[in-house]
Amino acid sequence: MPIATVNPATGETLKTYEALDAEAIERRLAAAQSAFRTHRTTTFAERARLLHRAADLLDEDQRDIARVMTTEMGKPVKQARAEAAKCAKAMHWYADHAEELLADEEPADSDVKDSGASRALVRYRPLGPVLAVMPWNFPLWQVVRFAAPALMAGNVGLLKHSSNVPQTALYLEDLFRRAGFPDGCFQTLLIGSGAVEGILRDPRVRAATLTGSEPAGRAVASVAGDQVKKTVLELGGSDPFVVMPSADIDRAAKTAVTARVQNNGQSCIAAKRFIVHTDVFDAFAERFTAGMAALKVGDPLDEDTEVGPLSTEQGRTDLEELVDDAVENGATVLCGGERPEGYTERGYYYAPTVLTDITPEMRIHLEEAFGPVATLYRAADLDEAVAIANDTPFGLSSNVWTREDAEVDRFVRDLEAGGVFVNGMTASHPAFPFGGVKRSGYGRELSGHGIREFCNITTVWHG
Ligand code: NDP
Repeated sequence: MPIATVNPATGETLKTYEALDAEAIERRLAAAQSAFRTHRTTTFAERARLLHRAADLLDEDQRDIARVMTTEMGKPVKQARAEAAKCAKAMHWYADHAEELLADEEPADSDVKDSGASRALVRYRPLGPVLAVMPWNFPLWQVVRFAAPALMAGNVGLLKHSSNVPQTALYLEDLFRRAGFPDGCFQTLLIGSGAVEGILRDPRVRAATLTGSEPAGRAVASVAGDQVKKTVLELGGSDPFVVMPSADIDRAAKTAVTARVQNNGQSCIAAKRFIVHTDVFDAFAERFTAGMAALKVGDPLDEDTEVGPLSTEQGRTDLEELVDDAVENGATVLCGGERPEGYTERGYYYAPTVLTDITPEMRIHLEEAFGPVATLYRAADLDEAVAIANDTPFGLSSNVWTREDAEVDRFVRDLEAGGVFVNGMTASHPAFPFGGVKRSGYGRELSGHGIREFCNITTVWHG
């Protein structure tokens, strides 16, 4: 894939970039190593000052960078501004909390004594340069949720962003530099995915984090495994959204629409499979389908657009193939199921779609639909709802709608996912761990768990 900005609303190539050559990559690796030597010795207060400054600059740039993101990957511009604001908030959060999250830990006195020590503690030290392989769907947020904790922990970052968001990638490097982080602390590598292996094998790179598809995750994790380097993987999701009879059906259906189509449906934590108790199935299906059909599809730079184009032509082709396969195998289309008509013909648009009568033979039952396409399942009871919810290779998050405490307890006990959101939709927050189980990956981002992933957890023992 060429490194280029192609506007998905028009299909027009706006800017192309040359990939870095071997010499340029070497210069950046050397700069990362050299920056780490100094950055690791700075205080939390110094790092926090720079990160707060980066957050303030991002707030100042919000309108401009939002338009760049929208032009590169097609998200509605209002959502792009919200993404930039969320990034600034996360930067402030880590600037304020990193010291406390990484404070020395003191084992219990009795255990210290039992070990024969006069004193013992656990210290979180940084690991070194970390490679971040990141996707285009939240082109600022996916990077910032890695970079903010990494920089606060004393690590330095090397970003390999998706080839379709080079301007956002370069903006991030520039942002951290303007904030005052010394050269080498955060660098963008404009490279294709073929260059990742060599960089990951370089001894100066100590760990890697990847957000993206399963094949990309597997490729990076196997090289890292071969090199015995730590990885965190955040891969796809096909989150269930379960609706039980006691739920507020109006609110559930309204939230379901947002949960499915946020970011033009291209979010790992979007609810994708809607599993509804038979007693409220018809009421929910009617409201949900009406909500999906009423969405305003259009130019993502328009303030009132709710659903823009998919980010690439390939992304739309993949989605169309999933829907066509389901329909050929007997799925019923409640709305959408095709490209929308009108002025949207030139871009990579796909109409908000609801499919039902899904069977396990259909690809969409097990694969992630990365676009505004929902599948609707009917469940006879809670046991069947849990069984359908777990019948997926993924396990990122989950949503359950019920007012029965006993049902909440069952869902929290039984759903195979890294999150259970009750009477709401999944959203990330800096204070809560984020990540999945099964093929959704491993490790956690955000919160104390996230910042400690790339630390050398060091035992200090005094005789
Ligand atoms: P990819 O996983 O291919 O891209 C994500 C990142 O990984 C990009 O930086 C990409 O670089 C890089 N990459 C891809 N292959 C390799 C590799 N073999 N070695 C090293 N790095 C690699 O996602 P796509 O954009 O192709 O989307 C495909 C599907 O992935 C989507 O339909 C969706 O299902 C899932 N996805 C999930 C996301 C999530 O948030 N969990 C985000 C994006 C996609 P380059 O751009 O240069 O190829």
